[in-house]
Amino acid sequence: MAAPRHRNRRLLSFRSMIASRRQYVGRFAPTPSGPLHFGSLVAATGSWLEARAHGGRWLLRIEDLDTPRTVAGAEAAIIAALEAFGFEWDGPVVRQSERTDAYAAAFERLRRAGLVYPCACTRREIADSALARDGSPRYPGTCREGLPPGRSPRAWRVRAEGLACFDDAIQGPQREDLAEEIGDFIVRRADGIFAYQLAVVLDDADAGVSHVVRGADLLESTGRQILLQRLLGLPQPAYAHLPVVANAAGEKLSKQTLARPLAPASAPATLVAALAFLGQRPPPGLARAPLAEVWAWAGAHWRLDQVPRCRSIAVASTHDEECP
Ligand code: GLU
Repeated sequence: MAAPRHRNRRLLSFRSMIASRRQYVGRFAPTPSGPLHFGSLVAATGSWLEARAHGGRWLLRIEDLDTPRTVAGAEAAIIAALEAFGFEWDGPVVRQSERTDAYAAAFERLRRAGLVYPCACTRREIADSALARDGSPRYPGTCREGLPPGRSPRAWRVRAEGLACFDDAIQGPQREDLAEEIGDFIVRRADGIFAYQLAVVLDDADAGVSHVVRGADLLESTGRQILLQRLLGLPQPAYAHLPVVANAAGEKLSKQTLARPLAPASAPATLVAALAFLGQRPPPGLARAPLAEVWAWAGAHWRLDQVPRCRSIAVASTHDEECP
């Protein structure tokens, strides 16, 4: 009895290995709120190398859903920087601004099933609530059973219940009690824009994304995304959250912290710095090699298990002209 069962198990895991090999689809999903910086390069490099190591596809999605945050010219600058750094994506660039119908249809399904409800609360009204896991106020449930008399709907929230569990390939096993640690969250904002959480699960599912490799600043979003995948009957991709680049003050590099835009002229050295940040061990001198040589080394030596298992790493400066 034992032997055949054992053999079947081995065969099954072998088959799923082959299947996952064939179907690996990764993606990079920048928000066009400014130019790419060293932190974005780290995320793009990790997801690209992991996709290529699996013989997979790598997609580019411009997350221009939040139109008030979208900066004119940022998309073109992002694409130009990716090209200058030697990234190649599969298929056409997808833009969230062109996918509103898909978000509206999914929202309608959630609404008909009673899984979302209108909420009249303003930000100020919930500011004093207990905090959710990511430090934002956790919705206290004021409008959950219906709008208070005389109030009109603003945003729409999804009922957050149950557990979201996943095994992050870098950060390890994760478990979130959605009611306790997250609370009912917004899927459609007061200004009518669909929330990032809803858009991203639909985008990933529609594009067949099997593996999400992105910055650990999004780790707290993953439980929300898993809940929406479950409610909409979508597959759950595998997740790997890379450490994010912080400045000397411990703040994540971003437009707000005045991160410098990537400089194509120093692409090889900056790429080598990104590889070193990701725990790879580029040989001395590689930073002075041509870009194609840096990519050839990275492709041959990339190992996800060398990526530091932490959420952020402070770097003294992002050295886009220097090498480590
Ligand atoms: N658009 C997000 C960002 O630029 C990334 C979203 C994701 O990878 O899921 O931080």
